[in-house]
Amino acid sequence: MRTPMIAGNWKLHKTLQEATSLASDLRSAVADNRAVEIVVAPVYTALSKVAEAVAGSNIKLAAQNCYPEAQGAFTGEVSPALLKDVGCQYVIIGHSERRQLFSETDEFINSKARALAEAGLGTIFCIGETLEERETDRMFDVLRRQVRCGLKNITAGQMGRVVVAYEPVWAIGTGKTASDEQAQEAHAFIRALLTELYDEQVAGATRILYGGSVKPGNIDGLMTQPDVDGALVGGASLNAEDFARIANFQNVG
Ligand code: PEP
Repeated sequence: MRTPMIAGNWKLHKTLQEATSLASDLRSAVADNRAVEIVVAPVYTALSKVAEAVAGSNIKLAAQNCYPEAQGAFTGEVSPALLKDVGCQYVIIGHSERRQLFSETDEFINSKARALAEAGLGTIFCIGETLEERETDRMFDVLRRQVRCGLKNITAGQMGRVVVAYEPVWAIGTGKTASDEQAQEAHAFIRALLTELYDEQVAGATRILYGGSVKPGNIDGLMTQPDVDGALVGGASLNAEDFARIANFQNVG
């Protein structure tokens, strides 16, 4: 019922030439995969070229960030409408690197969620606890706060375009993946939260991705979990063969 999604976050990597060449290698490597929604998120400067490289394929384009205002005196920022204009179908918001390195608050992330919903863009909304929060039994409180604040005033109808990505901060870029069971426990909790905030239908239809050191070697196990609907992949998405193997995970279809 939920189409799996495998999304690659290229972060601050790849020149124009490298980005287009990765996109075209990936295009061939996943050409036969029609069961999974495949998404790549290059840096802003490569969006337009990558859009051309994946045009007409089964790969969709995402941006790694946006600013909630439509236009105005906001030097250095990019609006949802401009991202739509360049060919993006999704935008990642709430990534832990933006929360930690750029001090983004739940309220600011919520303003982006609302702007994206109004622009009719898909949203990959990231949440996740730090190691300290997990070890001091605050994980569920943190996830509850992030979901409640981040999705405030997002209607049930608008939730159709929202994908949640559970990314435990301690697993991002560290090589430490959550076990299949840890991922399932968090995902089931998030789905129950969505039932509380919306209803069973919305919760049942919302995709919840796992993110944090996903690799070809651990994707198959993660995807056996009933509430894991895909992955947001950082490091391994920079290599076409690895990312294609992740997208072509074993129980596909
Ligand atoms: C990410 O940045 O969203 C991520 C999950 O990174 P990595 O796969 O490298 O841990």
